[in-house]
Amino acid sequence: MPTYQYACNACAHEFEVFQSFSDASLTVCPICKGEIRKVYSAVGVVFKGSGFYKTDSVAKKSTTESSKPATAPTPAAAPAAKAD
Ligand SMILES: [Zn+2]
Repeated sequence: MPTYQYACNACAHEFEVFQSFSDASLTVCPICKGEIRKVYSAVGVVFKGSGFYKTDSVAKKSTTESSKPATAPTPAAAPAAKAD
């Protein structure tokens, strides 16, 4: 069950709510009935972002390397044409 953190725009009250994905998001502060917004944990975002960035970097590297063998036959064919 994910935990959602909310912060009230009106009274700055912050609280966490356990909700399933199917539950509707809260929209009003339980203290003052003011408008609230969802707050995402900075730690969770940084952790996920760092992991995603690493994966993205590796994917880019492997793409560059895999393109090398594709271009290799071209220089190899040049000397063969010269020798001919
Ligand atoms: Zn409030």
